[in-house]
Amino acid sequence: MDLYKKNQLKIYNSLAKEKQVFNPINEGSVGMYVCGPTVYNNVHLGNVRTFMSFDLVFRYFRHLGYKVRYVRNITDAGHLENDADVGEDRIAKKARIEQIEPMEVVQRYTVDFHNTMQKFNNLPPSIEPTATGHILEQIEIVKDILKKGMAYETNGSVYFDVLKYNESEQYGALSGRNIEDSVHNTRALEGQSEKKNPQDFALWKKASPEHIMRWPSPWSDGFPGWHLECTAMSTKYLGEKFDIHGGGMDLKFPHHECEIAQANCSNGVAPVNYWMHANMLTLNGQKMAKSTGNNILPNEIFSGNNDKLDKAFSPSVTRFFMLQAHYRSNLDFSSEAMEASEKGFQKLMQGIRLLDDLPVATKSSLEISNWVENCYKAMNDDFNSPILIAHLFEGVKYVNLLCDGKESLQAGDVSLLQDTLKNFVYDVLGLVDDVSQVNSDKLNGVVALLIRLRKEARENKNWALSDQIRDELLVLGVQLKDGKEGTTFSIN
Ligand SMILES: [Zn+2]
Repeated sequence: MDLYKKNQLKIYNSLAKEKQVFNPINEGSVGMYVCGPTVYNNVHLGNVRTFMSFDLVFRYFRHLGYKVRYVRNITDAGHLENDADVGEDRIAKKARIEQIEPMEVVQRYTVDFHNTMQKFNNLPPSIEPTATGHILEQIEIVKDILKKGMAYETNGSVYFDVLKYNESEQYGALSGRNIEDSVHNTRALEGQSEKKNPQDFALWKKASPEHIMRWPSPWSDGFPGWHLECTAMSTKYLGEKFDIHGGGMDLKFPHHECEIAQANCSNGVAPVNYWMHANMLTLNGQKMAKSTGNNILPNEIFSGNNDKLDKAFSPSVTRFFMLQAHYRSNLDFSSEAMEASEKGFQKLMQGIRLLDDLPVATKSSLEISNWVENCYKAMNDDFNSPILIAHLFEGVKYVNLLCDGKESLQAGDVSLLQDTLKNFVYDVLGLVDDVSQVNSDKLNGVVALLIRLRKEARENKNWALSDQIRDELLVLGVQLKDGKEGTTFSIN
């Protein structure tokens, strides 16, 4: 039987502001859309946490046996500097500063994004569409909203009429803003004067002469508003109504509020059944920001090359650290907190390494099926990974007691304990035993050093020392082989 049939999953719906039982539109299937990155700079750690939160959701649905279509877009046009409808396109600006093509910016940072996701073992989505690949679909939605009288054209740009929409629908319901607060830009900036009301947002913007990223449309040569791509791509790949829409907390307003308005108007239905928002990551208690220097890049964690870190940490330790907090809680990153997580991660992995050698007894002294149920209960309660991890440590305690002969399990319970720990640690949490990888890298480095010292000893005709290094390494299970190309080694 598929696991989803016996697991009632509850999800905190940010729109309803409560936990709700998850009922998919199509039995056994899940359609999920998550707002992806704007590819104009290196992905930062806060984004990594957001995408990891939805990777956990994706992995758990798959584990439960659902067929999941997970769509996560790449924003490669239309996202202006200040999140409102003014300023330079983020990608075009970077291209101008670095004197390269906008599509080179897109390529460079898309590759960086994919590499970073892979390092953290975030699974790729089922479809990863781009904004520039869906300009035609976006133009069709603008036409549709204009036809329905919910948008207006000014000087070649098209704006969504928020006040008019709000007469029949509730704009601001997701972010909890009333219509007076929903002003997209309070400052009198260029472009604002074209709007009837400051709450209105752009569906299409006419490109200024220096704006390079532009497409023809019935209104002007221009580009789509930032919010429109997600409506176009989620509708195209998941339908007018789909199960889950996710993103970072900071996207609730204006981005998701605008998506809801656009889809409601164009498709005539509320687009999403469950809205999910992942919380922020702070660094040493402060918001992360490049401008203040309170910032760490993913690669700096792996190399330890940042003055905010006392040492390097592996991707899985970082992943474990992040998953030790619930996705809706704020999480503070610090070197001390990471060191504590590293100890916990090693303890967990030590337990996992013992799993294949567990003794089998004729009867069980532990209640394994209750423990398994508790693991599922934690994840069924809005993907509560910290509670799950606490139960996994309980499982590791069982493993140690069994190895010490203090408790016993019969064969069926041994398999259940093994499978459950492995499934949750590897498949659901997506952890990899990479600390032992780091250790083996270090071991390789140490052996290479000894080979160099032995070579020096031989050059100085110190045969006694040279032999001693070779022989003592052999006792430790490291065999040196001298060849034409130099000395190589194998570890048994
Ligand atoms: Zn989006």
